[in-house]
Amino acid sequence: MKLPIFAANWKMHHGPSDARAFMKSFLAHYRRQQDRKVLFFPNALSVTTVSELLRDRPDMETGIQNIHWEDKGAFTGENSAPMARDSGATHVLVGHSERRHVFHETDVESNLKVKAAFRAGLTPVLCVGELLAERDAGDTERVVLRQLLAGISEVEEGQVASMMFAYEPVWAIGTGRTATPQDASTVHSAIAAALKTAIGERAAGIPILYGGSVNRGNATTLLAAPDVDGVLVGGASLDADGWNAIVCA
Ligand code: PEP
Repeated sequence: MKLPIFAANWKMHHGPSDARAFMKSFLAHYRRQQDRKVLFFPNALSVTTVSELLRDRPDMETGIQNIHWEDKGAFTGENSAPMARDSGATHVLVGHSERRHVFHETDVESNLKVKAAFRAGLTPVLCVGELLAERDAGDTERVVLRQLLAGISEVEEGQVASMMFAYEPVWAIGTGRTATPQDASTVHSAIAAALKTAIGERAAGIPILYGGSVNRGNATTLLAAPDVDGVLVGGASLDADGWNAIVCA
């Protein structure tokens, strides 16, 4: 059985002091739950702070929002997968729509990052999603599956089976527009089918999260939709009380 996953993407918010204050407030209210997993993706500077505060909480883990695909080198301003691991990260977001569309990252780069994550022992969470124009043109499935298959290209089947995926329609991220549970389910089942074709029955254990304007009002309905195994939450994860309400959904 897959445990529902609640992942918080703090984007470029909550530096180390704010991250510490958030975690203290959140941990004071959120008691350990065996039936769900909580992941935090703070910015790189706050990864150590968050991972240290979660040291005694195996029900929660810390990830990094982005890595470079090289392990080290002359890449000013970048963070590598081994450095993220050393800072306490266990997971990494790869191909988030803001990386793809604001920083023009390509499918090939996402694939290199997935491979770099595995070299360092990080679990990649590969994000896929279509632009509004692509959705309006009826291209959602083609775009999402292209991003997916490019991201796992030449990755061993056993590694793919250990990944997580997030469907994040770009038109729903930070806009207040959420996909309906039915929209999410349709794409999630296409992703699940593509993964099954790629790696067979082991694909059944792979969590597929939904992201895009999830909040405390819609999280329960989205999580109840077929093939939705968790949520990736940006804006609504920034406030400790609000996040507590979502993870208790
Ligand atoms: C995200 O950043 O992955 C995200 C889904 O953001 P929001 O919840 O703010 O739409």
